[in-house]
Amino acid sequence: MTESRSSIAADVLPPLEDSLRTGMTEALRKGKILIVDDEEINVRLLERIIIRSDFVKFASTTDPREVESLFQPFAPDIVLLDLHMPHIDGFALMHQLREMIGSDDFLPIVVLTADATLATKRRALHEGATDFLTKPFDQLEVVLRIRNLLESRFSHLKIQEQNATLEDNVRQRTIELERALSDLKAAQHQVIQQERLAALGTMAGGIAHDFNNSLSVIIGFSEILLRDAKNGLSQNAARQPLETILTAAEDASRIVHRLREFYRTGEIEEARLALNLNPLVEQALLLTKPRWLTHSRANGYTIELTPLLGDINDVMGDAAELREVMTNLIFNAVDAMPNGGTITVRTENEGDQVAFRIIDTGMGMTEEVRQRCLEPFFTTKGDRGTGLGLAMVFGIIQRHGGTVEIESIPGKGTAFTIRLPMHANTDVETDAAPETLSRPLHVLVVDDQPVLCQLLCEYLQNDCHTVEAAENGEKALEKFASGSFDIVITDQVMPDMNGVQLASALRESRPDQIIMLLTGYGAPLGSDAETPCVDLVVGKPISLASLRSALLRAMSLGRRRT
Ligand code: ADP
Ligand code: MG
Repeated sequence: MTESRSSIAADVLPPLEDSLRTGMTEALRKGKILIVDDEEINVRLLERIIIRSDFVKFASTTDPREVESLFQPFAPDIVLLDLHMPHIDGFALMHQLREMIGSDDFLPIVVLTADATLATKRRALHEGATDFLTKPFDQLEVVLRIRNLLESRFSHLKIQEQNATLEDNVRQRTIELERALSDLKAAQHQVIQQERLAALGTMAGGIAHDFNNSLSVIIGFSEILLRDAKNGLSQNAARQPLETILTAAEDASRIVHRLREFYRTGEIEEARLALNLNPLVEQALLLTKPRWLTHSRANGYTIELTPLLGDINDVMGDAAELREVMTNLIFNAVDAMPNGGTITVRTENEGDQVAFRIIDTGMGMTEEVRQRCLEPFFTTKGDRGTGLGLAMVFGIIQRHGGTVEIESIPGKGTAFTIRLPMHANTDVETDAAPETLSRPLHVLVVDDQPVLCQLLCEYLQNDCHTVEAAENGEKALEKFASGSFDIVITDQVMPDMNGVQLASALRESRPDQIIMLLTGYGAPLGSDAETPCVDLVVGKPISLASLRSALLRAMSLGRRRT
């Protein structure tokens, strides 16, 4: 093996044309050439040609077996390879070289051959040859081919390098974009929370108003009853005011329930159930009533609201979110009608979708506003608007796999159409509870508030059940130990031991005990999955009717469990 040295007199060869040398660039001069030929004379000849044409880096060998160990340290840019050699022939060596080079590198292999038959050429190309040089060599051809191929190789290397930088940049950008996206998601989440709070604030005014109405009725009629009671009140005279008090109290309880449903918006994706839009529309209308009815009347104009609810199939969705969509659209419709008008709310099946439409006879939108109204923070209401309502609507509907369509004529009105995919199976499973209890029950009631405890006992005794009462968890455990109860009804919030703690203690000594938990916070009816130690969770306040149906349900669920 010889490397990068020249001891052979240059004048043996005819001088190369000047143009050949002048074409050499600095980069090409440094191209590394590896010569593999078993004939010493050929190797020397090629070396001389190479030196004459100003290349400075080359290595050569007459033993093909040396190529493997030479390849890595020398790292050639081009290989000149003889075909007929002892030990390893050119074809096999080419095969070896291609494996070492790898498929995404371009390293030219030039085959040196005296018998360039078609078959030889084909086979050489097949094994990975890039080009041929026919013996005896023409100096000019040798140099030109080497130069061309080196140029191709260097271009290839440059592209590879650029690709690597590009890939690096892309990777970097992807990381940045991912970060931006997650920031955006966090911001969006915050925005949704804010909008929810703003809407809640708007509604709180109305709710306080409705709630006060109920309370004034309750207070007023209670006072009348107390006054009349002094003079001996007949059953008939008491009946009417008591019924009014009951209705007002039930309304107030419904208001609280609605409010609770409004802010209960967690576990969005998981909380999807098959549900019908019609009851949601009705709830949304009730929730927004203070805005479109009370407020408009107080300001001297009228807004008519016409619900046209069709016989529609269920959709899969989150009730609280869909109610939010509706309340937002109704608020916008009200805002668009400062002098009054009509809002029509329509539901209908449309093919395999359920459509929900809110049409107003308000001021409408220009084409520009229509195009932009879904954008977050886009509002034409100045300080009064947040520009987030429709962005939220759009987000929710998208997450439900639905669409939002907006038609509007300035001065005439606007129609928002929401379309949601119809739920395939509309036979929603219902828990068939028996209509009535088959026998009176023995009940243990646990509540730390004497009035509520007494009320529950009276309800139950009135329905012929036998009742024992306990004012806290400890007393309840005592009674429980000395008796046997069909059902235990316990309050959740009590000092020392709360309802859930009591329930788990009871279940420990009697796993089949049926238990109903009453709560004034958070968990509304039916969320018993979160409290496995009870059969049913029931929201307070509880009326006689709701107590009866809760008893039925708890008994049937409890029996099914055991
Ligand atoms: P905001 O109500 O706080 O302005 P929204 O996102 O709810 O924010 O609405 C964005 C804009 O879309 C409103 O400012 C209004 O210009 C327009 N818009 C929405 N609904 C209606 C409608 N029913 N009639 C006319 N314009 C509407
Ligand atoms: Mg709005």
